[in-house]
Amino acid sequence: MFDTHELGRRPGALQRISRTVEAPADLGIDGVIGVPQGSPVELDLRLESVMEGVLVTGTARASAEGECVRCLEPLRQDVAADFQEMFSYPDTDDRGHRKAAADDDAEDDEDMTPLEDGMFDLEPVLRDAVVLSLPMQPVCREDCAGLCPDCGISLNDDPDHHHDAVDIRWAALQGLADSLGTGEKDNMSGAEAGVDEKQEK
Ligand SMILES: [Zn+2]
Ligand SMILES: [Zn+2]
Repeated sequence: MFDTHELGRRPGALQRISRTVEAPADLGIDGVIGVPQGSPVELDLRLESVMEGVLVTGTARASAEGECVRCLEPLRQDVAADFQEMFSYPDTDDRGHRKAAADDDAEDDEDMTPLEDGMFDLEPVLRDAVVLSLPMQPVCREDCAGLCPDCGISLNDDPDHHHDAVDIRWAALQGLADSLGTGEKDNMSGAEAGVDEKQEK
């Protein structure tokens, strides 16, 4: 929660706030990339007093963690999200006192984010801005080559890697031969391996 009392209600008054807060839960795109809960989020805010309330303009900086959609390696990415939100004074009468009835109406108004006793909650705004700034399909680097569709090894580690159709069949036979060879050896090494083989059948 941020306090606007210091800013005052004189239209045109400005206040800058720099503050580091802990990231709330679920700050990001679920299962794709996000700012880990409790990690630092640097906020630079500019509060401007206007007739109807307080206009808040700001930037949030944090570090997001996720997984490359191509090679599945973990990745970390800096986030800088800009946002702007108008926090409105609850309806007041000429003397600045709240009108209780009007206040209830205001809470039904989705377009208006009310100030509560001069305080505002930045979390929903922060969440929207950060989610918008994050990639839906994060990659560890723009030219990430991803994984081999045939065998799944990372093509970043081995750019010349490829398969011919014949190679794949040969590799499968080779794999079969290897496992048979291992099976024979296990049989010779003890009764336990024999039990395993029966269970497979
Ligand atoms: Zn990657
Ligand atoms: Zn491969």
